[in-house]
Amino acid sequence: MIEITGVMIQYFKSCKRELWFYAHRINMNYDNEDIALGKLIHEKSYSRENKEIKFDNMAFDFVKKTNNLTIFEVKKSRKLVEPAKYQLYFYLWNMKNSGIDAKGVLVYPDERKRESVELTDEISREMKIIIKEIKKIISLKTPPKSIIKPYCKKCSYYELCMV
Ligand code: SF4
Repeated sequence: MIEITGVMIQYFKSCKRELWFYAHRINMNYDNEDIALGKLIHEKSYSRENKEIKFDNMAFDFVKKTNNLTIFEVKKSRKLVEPAKYQLYFYLWNMKNSGIDAKGVLVYPDERKRESVELTDEISREMKIIIKEIKKIISLKTPPKSIIKPYCKKCSYYELCMV
């Protein structure tokens, strides 16, 4: 059975071809400065918080428990804000399905910005459709065609897509 992850949800929203590569474990991450920078931000940011909390098939950047549970997702920049939001929606939706109401916050340490993310009934319905669609894409024998986007040049699969 295919295990759907938050990263897959993110790729579904940003690039379905990248989703297919990722799900098929075609890894081109070496040498990509952006990915290295992203990892560094993760390591240096919020060093006093508990990081990488795992729950089922999810790994949260960190969580805070006050009256409610808040899940934080750290991102390098706001260029791909929609995919990042859906990744967090996916976590909130999974938590809700486990009986836990949580809130979400996207954090951009470089820009010193935070954005609250809340799960609605509409997004919950959409999430079920997205998961079905992801399964269909992953089951394809070959990756979906390249659709050139502004961020392709920064993608680790760029060379693979351009040949
Ligand atoms: S280079 Fe562009 S089309 Fe190819 S996987 Fe990356 S984002 Fe998708």
